[in-house]
Amino acid sequence: MLKRRKTRTVKVGSVKIGSAAPVVIQSMTKVPTTDISRCLRQINQLIKAGCRLVRLAVPRKADTDALAKIVRKVTVPLIADIHFSPERAIEAIEAGAAKIRLNPGNIKKQADILRIIDAAKMHKTAIRIGVNEASIRDLKKTPVPPNKRIALMLNEMFKYVRIFEGRSFTRLVLSAKTSDTFRTIEINRRIADTFDYPIHLGLTHAGLPEDAEIPSAVAIGTLLAEGIGDTIRVSVAGNPVIETQIAKRILRSLGLEEPPASEPELVVCPTCARAEVDIVKLARKVAKALPKIEKPLRIAVMGCIVNGPGEAADADLALCAAKNKAFIYRKGRRIATVPERKIITELLKQLANL
Ligand code: SF4
Repeated sequence: MLKRRKTRTVKVGSVKIGSAAPVVIQSMTKVPTTDISRCLRQINQLIKAGCRLVRLAVPRKADTDALAKIVRKVTVPLIADIHFSPERAIEAIEAGAAKIRLNPGNIKKQADILRIIDAAKMHKTAIRIGVNEASIRDLKKTPVPPNKRIALMLNEMFKYVRIFEGRSFTRLVLSAKTSDTFRTIEINRRIADTFDYPIHLGLTHAGLPEDAEIPSAVAIGTLLAEGIGDTIRVSVAGNPVIETQIAKRILRSLGLEEPPASEPELVVCPTCARAEVDIVKLARKVAKALPKIEKPLRIAVMGCIVNGPGEAADADLALCAAKNKAFIYRKGRRIATVPERKIITELLKQLANL
């Protein structure tokens, strides 16, 4: 079990964030907030996928008006993503957002920040101070070299936190995002060394899902493995359900989230020149049939009977394929031989008996 860095616990509506609570997956809606029915549909898809906090953009007054209606119809706490406008921040707090995200790069006047803090205090709203490398860079007339950006971001964070603490506001979550894996890891290590607030992790502008998954898993996974990080978002250009699915895989690979007790696990050999059948095709058919099996079983699909039975000896059920047929093993012991066309039917029959 990973040892998490000790932090304060921050309540975001009904969800606790911090080392005493499990790492929380969050994502963001990608439809106009004013399109309430589409927004609700997407939020419910995210909840079903395992998301426990959902963030919405609220760039206009019409969006915070819509947020007030959406908040009443969902079962997860909502976060309002604020840029540039202190008015939107206060409206979102009054609309019932459980947390707002502020970007120190674009809300800078102390009087505005204090107004927001006072509203958040009154409504018990949490605030994420979300420093973003791009916003820091935009503020500078000359480009800031990458090796100086971490110090700048940390300094920006420090100044902001001081304003909040000066107003006795500690319902804070901190984040610093870049699109670079190394800088994201480094800045978050520095934040963890400097503050005891929970940290939200993620890469920003990570790309299309196929490009974003590995850098996000490396950055978020490295930090989580060091005990740093209390809530995560995997940003991808695309369906936010994919963000949640990737986030879940990261947490599961580190033992920070267990699959549901009723979910079977599918193991597939990588295939090699010994395989005499199309293992990927066969595995996909098995994967399609698995949701019908609500049992915590380990099922293996192996490409040959040379190494397959041994490598899948711990599987509850293993299919070891050969030309035109497959052998079914139960915990390493052969229990059936089936022709190719009956593989899935026979597998399901055997699974039903377990
Ligand atoms: Fe190759 Fe057989 Fe191992 Fe699959 S189980 S990778 S086919 S040796």
